[in-house]
Amino acid sequence: MIKGLIFDIKRFAVHDGPGIRTTIFFKGCPLSCGWCHNPESRSTDPQPSVKHLAMDGKLFEQEEVTGKEMTVDELLHEVERDRIFFEESGGGVTLSGGEPLHQPDFCTSLLKTLKENELHTALDTTGYASAKEIARVSPYTDLFLFDLKIMDDKEHMKYTGVSNKIILDNLRTLQEKGKEIIIRFPVIPGITDTPSNISSMIDFLSPFHHFTISPFEVHLLPYHAAAKNKYHRFRMEDKMESGIEVTKDRLMELKALFEKTGFRIKVGG
Ligand code: SF4
Repeated sequence: MIKGLIFDIKRFAVHDGPGIRTTIFFKGCPLSCGWCHNPESRSTDPQPSVKHLAMDGKLFEQEEVTGKEMTVDELLHEVERDRIFFEESGGGVTLSGGEPLHQPDFCTSLLKTLKENELHTALDTTGYASAKEIARVSPYTDLFLFDLKIMDDKEHMKYTGVSNKIILDNLRTLQEKGKEIIIRFPVIPGITDTPSNISSMIDFLSPFHHFTISPFEVHLLPYHAAAKNKYHRFRMEDKMESGIEVTKDRLMELKALFEKTGFRIKVGG
C-alpha cells in the first residue's frame, strides 16, 4: 500500500482554511525559501535532530527523527477523531507541508479518500507542480491555499531557488476553472514587501475578481523569527538576519493597498 512521509499532524487548527481543521504536514519541498518557518519540512527523507532537555538542573541531548511513513487509512483514522468538530464548525482537513504535491500520488490518493468520506479538503500549496498533477488533485480539493511570494522571476529564483512561471500558470488555470482559492502572501521585509512586488502582485491578481462572486481573498502572513531555533536543532543554515520583523503599521499599509483594489484581506493564516 502506498505510504506518505508526514512530519506533523495539527488538530484544532483555525488558520488553515474554514472552521476547525486537522492539518497534515507533508515532508519534502522543491523550494528553499530563506524565511521558511518549517525548515524540517524541506528534505524528502526522515531527518534527525537534537533536542535539548533539562532535568534536575542537568542538560541532556535527545536524538529525534522527524518524518513518519503513514498510509491513507492511518491518516483517515486520525482525522475521523475530529469529524464532530468539522461538522459543527464547517471545517475539514488541510494538507500542508513542505509541499504536499511533492508526493503527488500519495497526496491525490489521500484527497480522494477524504472526499469519498465527505470531508472538506484544503490544499496548502506552493503551486510548484506540473499542470498534470494540479489537474489530478483539483477534483478532490475544495479550497486551494495558494502561496504567492515574488512576481519577478529572477528574484523568485534568487530567494526560493525555483522559477515562478509554472506557479503563475497553475494559479491562472485554477482560477479559470472556477476553483476556490485563497492567496497566501508571506510578508518578508525587504524581500517580498517591496513596492514593485506588491504592485506587480496586485496587477496580476486584479483580473481574478471577474471570476468570483465575492471579493477575492488574500492572507498576509508576516515573517516571524520563531523558527530560528529549529534551524539550530536541525543543523541547517539560517539565511535570515536577526532582528527582522514586520511592523503592525507596515501590515496595515499593505492591507489598505490590497483593499483599495477590492481584495478581502486577512492578516495571518
Ligand atoms: S515553500 Fe514553504 S515549506 Fe517550502 S521552503 Fe518555502 S516556506 Fe518552506
